[in-house]
Amino acid sequence: MRIVVPGGAGFVGSHLCERLLADGHDVVCVDNLITGRREHADYLTSNPHFSFVEHNISLPFYIDGTVDAVMNFASPASPIDFPKFPIQILKVGALGSLHSLGVAKAKGARYLLASTSEAYGDPEVNPQPETYWGHVNPIGPRSVYDEAKRYAEALTMAYHRYHDLDTRIVRIFNTYGPRMRPQDGRAIPQFVSQALAGEPMTVHGDGSQTRSFTYVDDLVDGIVRLLYLEPPFHEPVNIGNPHEMTVLEMAELIKELTGSSSDIKFTERPVDDPSVRRPDIARAQKLLGWQPLVDVRDGLKRTIDFFRTV
Ligand code: NAD
Repeated sequence: MRIVVPGGAGFVGSHLCERLLADGHDVVCVDNLITGRREHADYLTSNPHFSFVEHNISLPFYIDGTVDAVMNFASPASPIDFPKFPIQILKVGALGSLHSLGVAKAKGARYLLASTSEAYGDPEVNPQPETYWGHVNPIGPRSVYDEAKRYAEALTMAYHRYHDLDTRIVRIFNTYGPRMRPQDGRAIPQFVSQALAGEPMTVHGDGSQTRSFTYVDDLVDGIVRLLYLEPPFHEPVNIGNPHEMTVLEMAELIKELTGSSSDIKFTERPVDDPSVRRPDIARAQKLLGWQPLVDVRDGLKRTIDFFRTV
């Protein structure tokens, strides 16, 4: 297949491009590098089946030649990006999704949207099945991201229902691994960078809020299974690790694995920070035969090794 990947120079997108190339596809990465890194794309450009187009998909774009699939991973995704790029996030969720759906429609290609567990907001049910409609503050500081993704899901379903486009939606839960930005602001890169620098590891609140962390290779495997699925499934599919941990447990594990002498320091909880977060993955297990395989200690060791080199 020839696959267009908006957001392919980001953390998840770059691992996805690598996997698609390994599976024998041609990949066109489209990215404006707002939070992605040129090096991620440069690293793949030696592969003749990979090409990079620097473009902001909130503006219209066109791809020459055949396109079999569009996989839209373009959006800043870290809470530290929400106050920095609020309008860009709303635009890429709305206009970027519209333009990338337009490319899929023009080419008769299948479309996969990278949505998020943030579509569930601060959930009142745990774990979250795809049938849960969510509990989102529509005007809070996180709303730029949560509502942009909810809109992108609605738009994707509208293209499926109205234009009969072959669409798929993955709701991604917290993912970690090599190539995350050290100053990304998400819990794991923050704890690892602080632990390696011997700085205090800053835990929000009392650290009792829970997260479920998926290693990036497991995530990408679930995503490509959904892309390849025949017959297709158009409603959202959760991909995440049902193994739930408190944020404090994660900080303590990273402290142990890095051998750090950093102290753990408790800081104020951000507004609308979800208290619990755990996917119900029954749908992914049944449809895709997928479940996470990488043990958290192994995934963290690989991530820590990467952070030691940057
Ligand atoms: P990232 O910031 O590393 O990657 C996003 C990429 O999109 C970057 O390369 C960025 O430059 C690019 N981009 C942003 N706006 C763009 C635009 N207007 N035009 C072109 N390119 C643009 O983030 P990530 O963690 O790799 O997330 C990738 C996708 O997965 C996002 O859509 C995100 O919402 C989703 N997701 C990620 C996680 C996670 O835990 N990493 C969880 C849920 C959902």
